[in-house]
Amino acid sequence: MDFSLDDEQRAIRDTARAFIRKEVVPLEHELLRRERAGQPGIERSELRELQLKARKFGFWGLATPTEHGGMDLPAIMQSLIWTEIGHTLVPFRFGGEADNILFYANAAQQEEYLKPTIEGERVSCFAITEPGAGSDAANIKLSARKDGDDWVLNGEKTFITNGNDADFAIVVAVTDKDKGVRGGGTTAFLVDRAMGWHSEFIATMGPGGPASLIFDNVRVPSRNILGELGQGFELGMKWIGKGRYLIPSHALGIGERALQMAVDYANTRVTFGKPIGENQAIQWMIADAETELEAARWLVLRAAWTVDQGEDPRHSSSMAKLYGAGMINRLVDRVMQIHGGMGYTRELPIERWYRQVRLLRIYEGTDEMQRLIISRDLLRGYTKIGGHLA
Ligand SMILES: Cc1cc2nc3c(=O)[nH]c(=O)nc-3n(C[C@H](O)[C@H](O)[C@H](O)COP(=O)(O)OP(=O)(O)OC[C@H]3O[C@@H](n4cnc5c(N)ncnc54)[C@H](O)[C@@H]3O)c2cc1C
Repeated sequence: MDFSLDDEQRAIRDTARAFIRKEVVPLEHELLRRERAGQPGIERSELRELQLKARKFGFWGLATPTEHGGMDLPAIMQSLIWTEIGHTLVPFRFGGEADNILFYANAAQQEEYLKPTIEGERVSCFAITEPGAGSDAANIKLSARKDGDDWVLNGEKTFITNGNDADFAIVVAVTDKDKGVRGGGTTAFLVDRAMGWHSEFIATMGPGGPASLIFDNVRVPSRNILGELGQGFELGMKWIGKGRYLIPSHALGIGERALQMAVDYANTRVTFGKPIGENQAIQWMIADAETELEAARWLVLRAAWTVDQGEDPRHSSSMAKLYGAGMINRLVDRVMQIHGGMGYTRELPIERWYRQVRLLRIYEGTDEMQRLIISRDLLRGYTKIGGHLA
């Protein structure tokens, strides 16, 4: 058993690390200033400029196939890079990416949607959640009715990331009520904002915010069906599945940086004539944070490894998402506690992480949904206790 990175993995990881430290981290001060003034922390044009700079170092399309100009990195490598990204407060991501299911586009759709999204000229969002269907995604109601060679969409999607910025949405709609959502009754559509949907921003406790998308007789041509008629729910689950190891990968980076802040503070903050780090109460918080961070790291890498083996990653990804999301909430809470009153102020980024990481236990499958998947796999005998080593 080998827990080390090979030379190539280390080299790619270290180049990403150097880029983020040199080019992205220095923008944090301005990001925090703007956010405190109620402005967006980073403009789209600034993000794009950073992405184009990274492209010169070869970082473009981590998950994008090479025939589309991407790096097509193994899941382990993507996970390691997302951990590096987690080290900065800036909502940075490398460019050259598109939603994983957008690669199901046919040749004409690739020209119109996929390529411009990869190039950063168009912005997409993915919409399955509705006011009456979140965890219970199979209960979606937004309908698409066939009318000649068009489909007419009616209904509402909610909590859609990028929903206020996107110029097109990948929308999962009910096309055949009788077949049911799991029986091929849903279809994914590529729907331009110009076709008539509008968005309403939703303020949240985190930086930025999702949006509701309103469809009122929005007419979409049949050529805008993504994948096959009836494949909507399947594509939706594929979209959600991808984040289940990348979300906790990002959390690892946040955890590493936040814990280092706590260690530095514990060594320098003096009370009762000695650094607070000399108290067992503080030491235990640091020890628990480091232990959980390490446990999450191996769950995440194991999930990514499962993807790279071509095995079904759902069970291991659910464990990584469940544990990683809980871990980062506990870790940031401890880091805030170690910083005392300073941790609660907006002088430091800890309160921002505290608000930001709470989302991780909710979106792309709540804690409860991950538990449902993990336990169901065992109860039905689909997975053995001990996984692939069993
Ligand atoms: C900031 C943000 C961004 C998002 N981005 C997107 C996006 O880009 N695209 C998109 O389609 N969606 C997006 N979502 C939606 C997100 O995936 C849902 O909010 C999430 O799946 C939970 O659904 P819900 O909010 O309807 O909660 P509900 O499903 O109503 O759940 C409420 C509570 O009940 C629990 N619960 C529900 N059913 C059960 C059960 N059977 N057993 C035990 N507990 C249960 C849940 O775990 C939760 O604690 C986003 C959400 C947020 C907040």
